[in-house]
Amino acid sequence: MTKKVNRVNEQAKPQQVEDNVVVTLRYELTVDGEVIDSSDNDEPIVFIQGQQDIIPGLEKAIYNMKVGETKSVHVPPEEGYGLIDPDAFQEVSRDEFPADIPLEPGIELEMKDEDGETIFAVISSVDKDTVKLDFNEPLAGKDLYFEVEIMDLRPATAEELDHGHVHDDGHMHEED
Ligand code: ZN
Repeated sequence: MTKKVNRVNEQAKPQQVEDNVVVTLRYELTVDGEVIDSSDNDEPIVFIQGQQDIIPGLEKAIYNMKVGETKSVHVPPEEGYGLIDPDAFQEVSRDEFPADIPLEPGIELEMKDEDGETIFAVISSVDKDTVKLDFNEPLAGKDLYFEVEIMDLRPATAEELDHGHVHDDGHMHEED
């Protein structure tokens, strides 16, 4: 029998959230009184604290939290997905839309830009000849209400710090 040495565990577990610690975070996000995202339906998020991997207001709020600790965090738009950009609206002639697209406010559209990149827009308003599209990030201008829980903390490896993101064991990692 050979003894397995786990080098990662030689480094002490961080006691609280601080820069360069890999955080596993459970969260629930409420916007406009509705839960719109939750790690109970998806996976908890895993990221390196202090690397701007998550929105600034949330990163700021979780410093010094310990494993098992929970917190309610309000993130204003300025520290979340930004304010609504009035220049991110565009008027497009109705005839440019295929007939099968319902032209109603709130309809989400997937489009290609000049470079063939996929971009998303929401119909903001419709009149006789034109459709106004909103290219803002959907959560721009929104107050975000998070319920968070720290699930795990571990030191980031030198390679993870070098790359600025988490390398998930057991998953293929595409070099960047
Ligand atoms: Zn990497």
